[in-house]
Amino acid sequence: MSSDFEVVWCGEGWRSLVNECHDELVARFPDYRFYGIKQKWGVLAFQARPRAGDSTDEERALVDRLTGRYQTASEAVCEWCGRPGSLRSEDAEWLTLCNTCAEDMKTTKYPSSRLIM
Ligand SMILES: [Zn+2]
Repeated sequence: MSSDFEVVWCGEGWRSLVNECHDELVARFPDYRFYGIKQKWGVLAFQARPRAGDSTDEERALVDRLTGRYQTASEAVCEWCGRPGSLRSEDAEWLTLCNTCAEDMKTTKYPSSRLIM
C-alpha cells in the first residue's frame, strides 16, 4: 500500500482503488500532478495531470482513461466499507453503498459497517 495518501477525501472503502490508481499513474507518469480526490455524483473522481508543466493531448487522454477506469470500478464498491456496492440516490445525494450500509443510513447518522481491508 502506498504511503503517499495518508488522507484521502473520499470514503475509506475506496482507499485501495485510490492507491491502485496512484500506483498506475506513477508507473506511467513518475511526476504526475495530483489535484484531488473526491466523490462526485456518487463515484470516485481522481483528478490528475501527466505533469506540472506542458503535456500532450495524448498524455492527458491516457491519464483520463486511467482514472476513468477507477471511477467505473468505484461504482461497484461501497464507499463506506469497501464491500460490493452499487450507486444509489436519495433526494439529491448520490452514494455508492452496499446493502448493509444503505440500510444503516436510513436509521443512523452513518453506517455501522467496518472497513473490510
Ligand atoms: Zn458498505
